[in-house]
Amino acid sequence: MTNRITWILGNWKQNHLNADAAECAEGVGAGLEAALANPVAGCPEVRVGYAPTYLALAAAAPFTRPATGAWLLAQDVAAQESGAFTGEIGVAMLKEAGVDAAIVGHSERRAYFGDTNALVASKVANALAHDLTVVLCVGESLEARDKGEHETTVITQLSESLAQVASSEMDARVIIAYEPVWAIGTGRTASPQQARDMHRAIRTHLRETYGDAGNDRSILYGGSVKPGNAAELLSAGDIDGFLIGGASLKAESFLAIAAAAAQTARPTA
Ligand code: PEP
Repeated sequence: MTNRITWILGNWKQNHLNADAAECAEGVGAGLEAALANPVAGCPEVRVGYAPTYLALAAAAPFTRPATGAWLLAQDVAAQESGAFTGEIGVAMLKEAGVDAAIVGHSERRAYFGDTNALVASKVANALAHDLTVVLCVGESLEARDKGEHETTVITQLSESLAQVASSEMDARVIIAYEPVWAIGTGRTASPQQARDMHRAIRTHLRETYGDAGNDRSILYGGSVKPGNAAELLSAGDIDGFLIGGASLKAESFLAIAAAAAQTARPTA
């Protein structure tokens, strides 16, 4: 049994104008209590959140904490505190908008917007320095997996992205999301064993680097998670929830995944 929090997090990406964002957020808020009610014996605490675009944060915010249990996330955060950085959004601005956490290093940011491990490390450091929770994404390309280099790739991303995090900062504000690039938005999910094996490698690295504080971190899986495959993935062990793209865009499918998390017994080992 694990005491690690299970996170069910949605990444809405560049989707949902304000009206759709509000509708989705309202639907999640309205159904959350029922979805998480009567969890299966031994189920860890399940928490839910989602990341609208920056411009839709205000539309979604009324349906998040404290009005409901949902966390409000941003899809990214600046590496700098404030200043002459056109187009960037800093931690203080996110907090003012009611944001609880920021996704950092998503593979789409890495692939299309030049987010290197060094930049991601600065974003993580800036977020933690100002007490904002981060969801740090790592994941290998299909090419790396086919060459058998998936574990080295992911552990390198992880260690370089956490390079500025001191042991004293490795706490509940750090959430890791393993998202194999070949499984994102493709309909192709990593097998539960592939996901579990990578989660174990990530946990081993965190434990070796940060001791118990590293070992205790929630490690989420992302890549074509849907209501139909959530329970099987969680049953594999060492998977502490999900970062979800497509299936998070509708409250119904997102809540079905949250309900599956509350109703799936976790392996004891
Ligand atoms: C994601 O973007 O983080 C993601 C996992 O997307 P999808 O669920 O659509 O594969």
